[in-house]
Amino acid sequence: VDRLELEGVSISDLTRDEVFSRLRDALDRRTQLCLGFCNANMLLKALGLPAYAAALRSFLLVSDGLGIDLCSGLFRGRSFRQNLNGTDLIPAFLATETAPRTLYLLGAKPGIAEAAARNLALLHPQHRVVGVRDGYFAPAETGAVIAAINAASPDILLVALGNPGQEMFIAEHAPRIDARVLMGVGALLDYTAG
Ligand code: UDP
Repeated sequence: VDRLELEGVSISDLTRDEVFSRLRDALDRRTQLCLGFCNANMLLKALGLPAYAAALRSFLLVSDGLGIDLCSGLFRGRSFRQNLNGTDLIPAFLATETAPRTLYLLGAKPGIAEAAARNLALLHPQHRVVGVRDGYFAPAETGAVIAAINAASPDILLVALGNPGQEMFIAEHAPRIDARVLMGVGALLDYTAG
């Protein structure tokens, strides 16, 4: 796979269908995949915050937006084949995925993940939300949050804690989280909640 490499951050030049097959592969083989949608804002934060750049190394990162594409033109001499953002890609993946999958929604303000779960059940009745938790828990509650996720053992964990919080959370805890696909999803839960 071609990639854009900048200061240790590596963004893969994948198409949407290629990402779908990576996701399906992790789900079917029950291996773990952390997927990140890297926009210019994330890249700038990573360049200024080495711990964030290090956290992003445990992700398969794809290109989200014009800013990243401009960097690609400058440093690689060509654009990314497709612009991939989680807000479009995740619902599209869930819609095309006929095999039933379980999801856990972590993040956003209290009540939002519940509302998003209700809408997901209408939009994608083949899948099932097996747990929700808002994104405003104290650091001391992190162990309990992870224990609740593990008790549900979701196929897919969507993490909406903003940047850099969501990718830091995933990178730090993925090794002890019982989920196959972990994704930082930004404002997706807010959008899905309506
Ligand atoms: N969020 C959260 N906990 C936090 C910070 C953010 O759950 O401590 C949620 C927020 O409610 C929203 C999502 O993360 O649903 C994305 O937040 P924001 O748009 O502020 O993120 P950014 O623009 O920084 O990526």
